[in-house]
Amino acid sequence: SPFPIALAGQVQKGFGRGGKDLGCPTANLPDESITPISSVAKTGVYYGYAQEDIQVLPMVMSLGWNPFYKNKCLTAEIHVMHDFKTDFYGFEMRALVLGYIRPELDYTSREALIEDIEVDKRVALNCLERPRYQAYANDPHFSLRS
Ligand code: ADP
Ligand code: MG
Repeated sequence: SPFPIALAGQVQKGFGRGGKDLGCPTANLPDESITPISSVAKTGVYYGYAQEDIQVLPMVMSLGWNPFYKNKCLTAEIHVMHDFKTDFYGFEMRALVLGYIRPELDYTSREALIEDIEVDKRVALNCLERPRYQAYANDPHFSLRS
């Protein structure tokens, strides 16, 4: 298994498409931070843990080809399962990707997409229940910052 895959980088401004409108803001990672997962390069939705400040929290991550770069660049976007009061553009985000949930799908409706994101979050939380995964929340990759 290629997991866990450690990623780290400063949260970038994305295209502002979807994300918050769908009730699912995604912190976009910089291109160079994606290298550790490019060996897997399987597009779709992953789950794991992410740290934006101090707390290590469950996350779902979408890995896809960036249409802006004529689909030559992979792009990784992380939705942290937490209700943040403010944005955190520019902050360093660390993540441990622990498993694959599903491939990218074409959605015929916004409702279908939103419904699938909800399923992804439940799958992620269920997977992370396993004690073996919980140990990753204390991984040294997540440094304690203040
Ligand atoms: P963009 O296209 O700029 O990525 P989004 O609509 O995807 O816009 O919003 C992403 C931003 O929202 C993140 O960069 C972060 O600053 C903020 N944000 C707030 N809550 C969350 C969350 N739970 N998970 C990820 N990002 C969040
Ligand atoms: Mg985003």
